[in-house]
Amino acid sequence: MAITAIKGFNDILPTESGRWQHIEQTARRVFELNGFSEIRVPVMEKTELFSRSIGDATDIVEKEMYTFIDKGENSITLRPEGTAGVMRAFIEHKLYAQDPVAKLYYLGPMFRYERPQKGRYRQFHQIGAEITGVHDPLADAQVLNMLVQFFRATGLDEPQLQINSLGCPECRPGYRAALVGFLESRLDQLCEDCKRRFSTNPLRVLDCKVPGCVEATIGAPSVLDHLCGGCQDHFTGVQGYLDSTATPYSINPRMVRGLDYYTRTTFEMVTGLLGSQSAVAAGGRYDGLISQLGGPAIPGIGFAMGLERVALLLGAQEFSIRPDLFIATLGAGERSFAFRLMHDLLRAGIRVEMDYDGKSLKSQMRRADKLKARYSLVIGENEVNSGTGAMKRMEDGTQTELPLRAEDIMRVLS
Ligand code: ATP
Ligand code: MG
Repeated sequence: MAITAIKGFNDILPTESGRWQHIEQTARRVFELNGFSEIRVPVMEKTELFSRSIGDATDIVEKEMYTFIDKGENSITLRPEGTAGVMRAFIEHKLYAQDPVAKLYYLGPMFRYERPQKGRYRQFHQIGAEITGVHDPLADAQVLNMLVQFFRATGLDEPQLQINSLGCPECRPGYRAALVGFLESRLDQLCEDCKRRFSTNPLRVLDCKVPGCVEATIGAPSVLDHLCGGCQDHFTGVQGYLDSTATPYSINPRMVRGLDYYTRTTFEMVTGLLGSQSAVAAGGRYDGLISQLGGPAIPGIGFAMGLERVALLLGAQEFSIRPDLFIATLGAGERSFAFRLMHDLLRAGIRVEMDYDGKSLKSQMRRADKLKARYSLVIGENEVNSGTGAMKRMEDGTQTELPLRAEDIMRVLS
């Protein structure tokens, strides 16, 4: 029996990779425009990095991580997200020593042992960006505007920006206590996971997608009513900057994140088109993370978007690469002439295809159609002897007679 891929691990086939490249290139362009540089970090880290940053009582660390003991008896984990590794590198290489304000982006595969379904896989891909060293809400607003700009630049206007504030270590305990008080009387209505979350991580109950839990938490206290003065001012500041650039957003006081390191601003780009996989991108501020990982007290903010979900939203749009010219040959004698012409054109940056194994003219033209070539050119004995031929525009059949030299062909193509 043939071997198949691991459950929840996907192949990205040539028919889809054009769409992925479009997303990746758009992200690189928009992020670099905003002054972000790429950082590449390993896909595996010491397990401790994730338990210390994401938090032991989160779904990710409790049950979703791919963790194993390597041959040197070290506990290793395939990264479930990108921020922890990027901040580990930021600290390890003292990137803050030159300038605490770093603008970094990354992209690559992440791994979580989840139940695979549409928009949720065990290997998935994220593109993320982080700004360190800025307390001011200006950084929050720039990150948010960049995210919105990215979606517009990919051609998507559907995902909507939602923001919230989760407070800080000063005011969150008060909110947590108020929420626990509210949930106590509704414990029996909650799912098994949420019964556990109630004692380990009660804010996560607000994020549960089980209908019973959604219902039971209607009317729960709002985190926004419990913010301290500093957090209140900061959140007002973020909104002020977003308003000043007319960036559309809504406030969702029930939004919490599944990672413990978030403080103050949190946000999601939300879609109604992917069922319960509604978050296409998500992030927030993590003012305590860098010091928690052994670095200096430098704040940070960032986000990660799920490429599979962005690709699903882009749908079946055509991103495949079309050849400019398909060269067909009538017989074996013309193939070396055609091959040399193809070589010259490729060197000049023209996308050319030709037939590889001497098929009939009819089947060669079928292939030209299938590849969606813009032009075709048939080379027979006459063309080889005269050094001229006719390029046919596939769209409407228009023929152009010309010398069969790279510079003349390029002129017709341009
Ligand atoms: P969800 O609530 O959908 O589980 P999350 O809160 O776990 O998302 P984050 O950890 O914030 O997600 O990751 C950021 C983004 O990465 C998500 O908004 C989503 O687009 C994507 N993502 C997360 N987990 C998966 C997965 N298992 N498969 C595909 N994409 C994912
Ligand atoms: Mg999740």
